[in-house]
Amino acid sequence: MKKYQIALIPGDGIGKEVIPECAEVLKALEKRYTKISFDFQEFDWGGDYYRKHGVMMPNDGLNDLKNKDAILFGSAGDPEIADHITLWGLRLKICQGFDQYANVRPTRILPGIQTPLRKCEPHQLDWVIVRENSEGEYSGVGGRAHQGLPIEVATDMSILTRVGVERVQRFAFKLAQSRPRKHLTVITKSNAQRHGMVMWDEIAVQIAKEFPDVTWDKELVDAATARMINRPESIDTVVATNLHGDILTDLAAALAGSLGIAPTGNIDPERRYPSMFEPIHGSAFDIMGKGLANPIGTFWSAVMMLEHLGEQDAAKKLMGAIETVTSNSALHTRDLGGIAMMKDVTKAVIQEIQK
Ligand code: ATP
Repeated sequence: MKKYQIALIPGDGIGKEVIPECAEVLKALEKRYTKISFDFQEFDWGGDYYRKHGVMMPNDGLNDLKNKDAILFGSAGDPEIADHITLWGLRLKICQGFDQYANVRPTRILPGIQTPLRKCEPHQLDWVIVRENSEGEYSGVGGRAHQGLPIEVATDMSILTRVGVERVQRFAFKLAQSRPRKHLTVITKSNAQRHGMVMWDEIAVQIAKEFPDVTWDKELVDAATARMINRPESIDTVVATNLHGDILTDLAAALAGSLGIAPTGNIDPERRYPSMFEPIHGSAFDIMGKGLANPIGTFWSAVMMLEHLGEQDAAKKLMGAIETVTSNSALHTRDLGGIAMMKDVTKAVIQEIQK
C-alpha cells in the first residue's frame, strides 16, 4: 500500500469550496484503489491568515510542506488585499521556494463542452502549454524610486538565465516527445526584445538537437494568439516564458470552454521538492459561498497530481469520470451555461468512480 502525504491549501474565495470537494473525490478513489491512500494535511493560509498575522503564510511554512508528496492548491486573491501581496506571499512563495520551474497546462475541449471557436472540432484542440515558472518577466527584480514625485521611476527586469532556459526547454521537448504528435512550438518575441529572447531562440536550436525525433517551430507571441484561434490543430506542445505563458494559457482556457475547467501543475521535474497542482481560475469572490463554483478544474488538477505520482490507473479513472460528467449538460455549472451546483458535479464524479 502506498500512502501519499498531500498538503491541501484551499487559500481564498472558491478555493475554500473546491479543495474539500477534491479531497472527497480522492477519498472515493482511495476506496476503489486499495493500493493507494491519501493522508491530507490542510493549511489555513491565505487572505484570512493575512488579516490575523500580517503574512499570507508563515515565514517558515515551506518546512511544513517540503516532505509532502504533492500539494493541492485552491486559489489566492482577496478583494481587501493587494494582488501583488496575495500572489507573492503564497503561491509564488511556494513555486519559487520549491523551484517548481515548469508550469504545465493541458488544454482540451472535454466532451459536452462548447468552444467559442466556430470552426474547431473538439479533437483539433489538444495542447499542453509549458510556461517557465521561475524567472523571466516575473523574476521580481526591479524597483521604484522617488515615489509620488513627477520624477518617479519604476522598473521590472526580465531575467533569463542559460540554466533556467535550458531546463524548461529541455522539459518541454521531452514532454513533446512523449506525446503522439511529437511537435513543439517555441514562443518568442526576439524581433522586439533583442537580448534575452534572442538567447532563448539560440538555446531552442541547441536543445532541439537532443531530440531529433521531435519536430519544432518558432512563433512570435502575438502571432501565436492568432494561430491558436485560426489554426488550433497546428499546435501540440508549447513552451513560453513566464509572461507569454501566463497570457497564452488564459486564452487557451477560454478557448477550451471555461476558466472553471482548466488545470495546471507547478512541477519540479527533478523531484527535489513537492510539486503543486491547482485549478487555473482565481478566487472568484462574486460566486463564493453560493455553491456555484465549477470543481472540474480542481479535479483535473488532481488527475495531473496522480499522473505525477505515477498512479496512472487512478488518474485515468478520474479523468474518465470527469469526461462522463462533462458530457452530460444537466451537470454543467453556471459558467458552462448550466444550472447544476458544485455538489451535483462532485456527487456525479464520485458515482462514476464507484462504477
Ligand atoms: P483572482 O483575483 O483571485 O485572480 P478573479 O475573481 O479576479 O480571481 P477568476 O476567478 O480568475 O477571477 O475568474 C473570473 C470570473 O470567472 C469569476 O469572477 C467567476 O465569475 C468565473 N469563474 C472563475 N472560476 C470559476 C469556477 N470554478 N466556477 C464558476 N465560475 C468561475
